[in-house]
Amino acid sequence: MAFLVRGSISTVRLWSRSYASMSKKGLVLGVYSSEGKDEVKFTPYAQKYSESTAGKLLEQINICGPIKSGQTRIFWELGKFPAVAVAGLGDASKWDELDEIDGAKENVRIAAAAGVRALSANKIAEIVVEDMEHPQQAAEGATLANYKFQAFKSKDKQTPLPAVTFAEDASGKADWERGVIIAEAQNFARVLMETPANHMTPSIFADTVKQRLGAANVEVLVHDEAWAKEKKMGSFLSVTNGSNEPPRFLELTYRGSQDEQCVALVGKGITFDSGGISLKPSANMDQMRADMGGAANVVSTILALAQLKAPVHVKGFVPLCENMPSGTATKPGDVVYAMNGKSICVDNTDAEGRLILADALCYASTFNPKFILDIATLTGAIKVALGDCVSGVFSSNNKLWEAIHEAGSQTGDRVWRMPLFKHYSDQMCDHNGYDLNNLGKGKGGGSCTAAAFLREFVPKGTPWLHVDIAGVMGDCSDQSYTGSKGMSGRPMRTLVEFVTKAGGSA
Ligand SMILES: [Zn+2]
Repeated sequence: MAFLVRGSISTVRLWSRSYASMSKKGLVLGVYSSEGKDEVKFTPYAQKYSESTAGKLLEQINICGPIKSGQTRIFWELGKFPAVAVAGLGDASKWDELDEIDGAKENVRIAAAAGVRALSANKIAEIVVEDMEHPQQAAEGATLANYKFQAFKSKDKQTPLPAVTFAEDASGKADWERGVIIAEAQNFARVLMETPANHMTPSIFADTVKQRLGAANVEVLVHDEAWAKEKKMGSFLSVTNGSNEPPRFLELTYRGSQDEQCVALVGKGITFDSGGISLKPSANMDQMRADMGGAANVVSTILALAQLKAPVHVKGFVPLCENMPSGTATKPGDVVYAMNGKSICVDNTDAEGRLILADALCYASTFNPKFILDIATLTGAIKVALGDCVSGVFSSNNKLWEAIHEAGSQTGDRVWRMPLFKHYSDQMCDHNGYDLNNLGKGKGGGSCTAAAFLREFVPKGTPWLHVDIAGVMGDCSDQSYTGSKGMSGRPMRTLVEFVTKAGGSA
């Protein structure tokens, strides 16, 4: 998969190079285990393969002992494949109900990823994966694990990634392909987020999306600063003031159904967040290249929906800019006007995500959508509250909350509901001299006051969800298949599942 960026890394192949010199093939098989039992229980595919080795594979596994969930053992020269990685599928019933996860599916992602990683570490260039009775999830685990961001490394220092394919004689090829499409779209989001800010400016982001999504039957309109001025997006434009990089505003349309009403997805696209005049401390400021994680989620979700030909009508709205300090930057205390006429005191220029989303929400509302979902790396407070394993969701609609909650348990990328109490709205709106302050009055509850702020820009009758992903942006330790280091692209698979189910005409 190639994507185009300006400068030194034009058209780089990022995750599908193969070993030139290696030709060995490997196979990933699954085996279940249950507590206290040594008995080996293969998947149906693995059972057949074991029989083809005249029972030798089973014999070997019995010698080395049970293979637990997430573990792998490689067996050489047994059957048709020179290398066979047997990956532990564990016991789905061991997942606690309170974990709110479909354990059987999650175990398959974990196992497929472990198998691919083990063979890859042994320099196997072509890896074939069986269906593990859940081919979509096997594809997701395998594809997310077979990813490495090395676009800026010298060619000869790059680690080649193996080619991963589905076993020809396994069942559920269409589901496998579905999993590959979704996981590759998540890998695309990871690349967008990981790419350094000087190589992923608003213009480069817009060009990259136009190229990649344009090729996938998505209409991509790239609006400029003059357009935003005409729309009276004073809140969005106030954030762009300090940067020399011109802002962009993406409007994406995928029409997979005849439905007149669309689902609106809005994503925060701060391609670099220095904090502006309210400058951030320098430690870890580089992470702020991924402050467009919401934008990456919207773009990759629409890409996947289009490639899957999902029967939904979806529009994406993505404000893109840098937040920088300079002589022209917005100053703390400045008052600006959003598209809906509300005045906002910019108390802290580092609370800029809500400022650009405010206008994007207003603009999205003009299309009279079925519902609006906005997604943003919005607050450090959400990480304090929930850590790095779950996204926070604020929803004005119980049915939509239930649908996204269920989607999260299916995909393994979970969500947790947060409050939209009037108390928080009062903290944002009860001021003399202007309508809203971009910081809450009270102490604590930073994610909740941010959500309360955004709520002021969604018309009362429009069902709405706000997803705060600052906690799951990067370095997540809960999903072995996504890897514990680097930008995650999460929770786009949950968005794909949710929009497919909740966005249809029914
Ligand atoms: Zn900020």
